[in-house]
Amino acid sequence: MQVLSDTTFRKLGLQERTLATLAKNGYETPSPIQAKFIPIALTGRDCIGQARTGTGKTAAFMLPSMENVDLTTPAVQILVLAPTRELSEQLLVESKKLCGGRLRLALGVGGRPIHKQIQDIANGAMVVIGTPGRIIDLLRRGNLVLDKLKVLVLDEADRMLDIGFRPDIERIIKQCPSKRQTLLLSATMPDVVERLAQKYMTNPDMVDLSEANMVVDTIEQYYVTVDEDRKRSLLLRVIAQEKPAQAIVFTRTKRGADKLLEVFSRRLKSDRIAAIHGDLPQGKRDRVIKDLRAGKLRLLIATDVVGRGIDISGISHIINYDIPEYCDDYVHRVGRAGRLSSAENGRAITFVRLDQGGELTNIEMRINTVLPEYRVDGFEAYRPKELRQREIRKFGA
Ligand code: AMP
Repeated sequence: MQVLSDTTFRKLGLQERTLATLAKNGYETPSPIQAKFIPIALTGRDCIGQARTGTGKTAAFMLPSMENVDLTTPAVQILVLAPTRELSEQLLVESKKLCGGRLRLALGVGGRPIHKQIQDIANGAMVVIGTPGRIIDLLRRGNLVLDKLKVLVLDEADRMLDIGFRPDIERIIKQCPSKRQTLLLSATMPDVVERLAQKYMTNPDMVDLSEANMVVDTIEQYYVTVDEDRKRSLLLRVIAQEKPAQAIVFTRTKRGADKLLEVFSRRLKSDRIAAIHGDLPQGKRDRVIKDLRAGKLRLLIATDVVGRGIDISGISHIINYDIPEYCDDYVHRVGRAGRLSSAENGRAITFVRLDQGGELTNIEMRINTVLPEYRVDGFEAYRPKELRQREIRKFGA
């Protein structure tokens, strides 16, 4: 997405020192979500922003929240809940930049030593960012106290609910003061998210930057029909033809991801390929993301839950090796390419089996676009039905 907006950060009502920090970090113009969300959030009202990662949403909710922090109160005043560790860590890095060293921040995520997190909170953290499970832990142990909380942020609310965090989120909300500001960010707005908003937010304003349009604007999207047993050959051909700078290949299952990695590390004779999914130990996951960010990896094979939190600007291609199970996942996956601050547009190519035509149509309806067919020169990715039947008659199934 390009940073297109005819306003300035100054006009949004941010304080001088925030403006200076933004300038120092190279933020010249607000992104569309920032332009709309910041003025509302600065008033202290509850606000819902429909935007995905990569649109500048972190600054959209962090800048106004941080303006209201009372520096003389060494207590947690902002709590940000996010679905994954990776996203929480990205939020932390971005927030540190945005506060220009003024605030103390702490992380609260699983898979990391809890003692360090407890220490950071005890040292007077004003902002805590984390995943619901670990935040509950910290609350239970009494290390995290929310009675001075001013702003609660629910980031990627749709995904948090998707992966079953609803009870945890509700438990956390119940420990927040009822007089607070609640900001909710979500790439999509399914009923479950709306219900959560209705229950725990007060007359929220809605900033809707239609996800579907944003994906269409920035990313060239295609589908390609393929027989299951030709998917691997097709992937090799696509890579040869596209020469992606960096690509994420999405599979539906962890086993599928591992299997592809095994086959492709051999076939491509390259160490610039890795896989990431929920079963990998945290240290390994971190290393993979670091290598991807540093440009050491060219191909990353990922499943939805982990893959979707990846916020890296160099991704040129998304390949849906398995068509996503849910239309919303399509939007999330494709959103990994052609990110803000990336000079070039991305490309997304979705592999579709003949029996998955209905699933493709659902996606097309979701993004309100008919996808063109992708062609690989000199390669038939599927055999027409009649031909296959003839082969079966001739050679047996
Ligand atoms: P986010 O959607 O918050 O994950 O942001 C995606 C990336 O865009 C991050 O690397 C930010 O540092 C960067 N970014 C966000 N807002 C702006 C802006 N207004 N100008 C330039 N870069 C930005």
